[in-house]
Amino acid sequence: NHGKIYNLVVVGFGGMGSHNAKLAEETGRIAIAGVYDPTEYRMDLARSRGYRAYENFESILDDEEVDIVLIATPNDVHKELSIKSLRAGKHVVCEKPAAVNTTDLLEILRAAEESERLFMVHQNRRWDEDFLIVKDLIAHKKVGDVFHVESRVQGANGIPGDWRQLKAYGGGMLLDWGVHLLDQLLLLTDSKIESVYADLSYILGTEVDDGFTASIKFKNGLSAVIEVGTTNFIKLPRWYVKGTEGTAVIRDWDLSGEIVTRNREVEHVEPKPIQAGKGLTKTMAPPSEESTIRRPIEHVEDLSDNFYVNLVSTLEGASKQAVPNDEVYRVMTLIEAIFESAESNSVIVRDI
Ligand code: NAD
Repeated sequence: NHGKIYNLVVVGFGGMGSHNAKLAEETGRIAIAGVYDPTEYRMDLARSRGYRAYENFESILDDEEVDIVLIATPNDVHKELSIKSLRAGKHVVCEKPAAVNTTDLLEILRAAEESERLFMVHQNRRWDEDFLIVKDLIAHKKVGDVFHVESRVQGANGIPGDWRQLKAYGGGMLLDWGVHLLDQLLLLTDSKIESVYADLSYILGTEVDDGFTASIKFKNGLSAVIEVGTTNFIKLPRWYVKGTEGTAVIRDWDLSGEIVTRNREVEHVEPKPIQAGKGLTKTMAPPSEESTIRRPIEHVEDLSDNFYVNLVSTLEGASKQAVPNDEVYRVMTLIEAIFESAESNSVIVRDI
């Protein structure tokens, strides 16, 4: 915890802005130098927490004491605020999605390069334990070679808040939760994507998508279904993973779930037919207890630095950025293919 203290200003002190302030402070290496938010009661809230309230965005850029600008505003202004901050010589942490399309994202990344400042996107769900468990079970072949992954988040509360329901603010669920699930997916395999087919859902209105289903095929044969829903009163499991030796399910963020694998120790027993509806079936009979091994989901220990610790050590040249910008760009390319597929109702065959 020794060394320079970096001064960070939070721009957009809503739900995530205030949460980020706490996370950054916890490192002991980042001080919150102040906050800017155009909404007066947000500024009052910031003052009540003892934070300095900047009068406007420009005064942050003029303040030489400020090292890092954290952008936690609605998505549409990420680009403008990021570029201005970078050009003023500040490092930038930007909430996801960094931008609403690849053109905007490229502009930000160029500004970061030109000004030789760090630009890092808060893809915090790279540290989620449910995801790390799936990554680990694929890497260690705990269900054999994985050939299919399903990753879902589903709620029944509609699209939250105000701006998330409006296109002009970069609303919609693909840009919101989608960017997390797609970012995680691309970390599960080294393979490139071959094709994408997607359907966006507009149950709640036509302004922005309230969810989506995307089927993604990788060149190495892996297939994935990524699904976000806000009209699901009963939800499907968070993760469903199929491998050549078994199946894993993680039902929720509480990590409930199980791994069931073939028992190689016993000889294969033909399943007995079961009554199913008005018929009999052997195909769909459950595997016998003896022929399978059933285990609970095992926790994985994550020894990596968290987001803000990594930010500090990257600034000091001691680590590589945990969320590299080329990976952020790749996810945005995939999001564009998903929008394109849904609009044209067709499979997008593209190297991603
Ligand atoms: P929010 O509505 O709670 O907060 C946004 C704040 O930004 C509001 O206080 C608003 O007054 C302020 N604002 C609007 N325009 C501004 C401007 N031009 N300059 C400065 N402030 C401005 O929204 P939120 O849920 O906190 O989401 C903010 C961002 O964080 C979004 O990009 C969202 O995608 C992201 N987010 C990330 C996570 C995560 O887990 N990484 C979770 C939630 C939200």
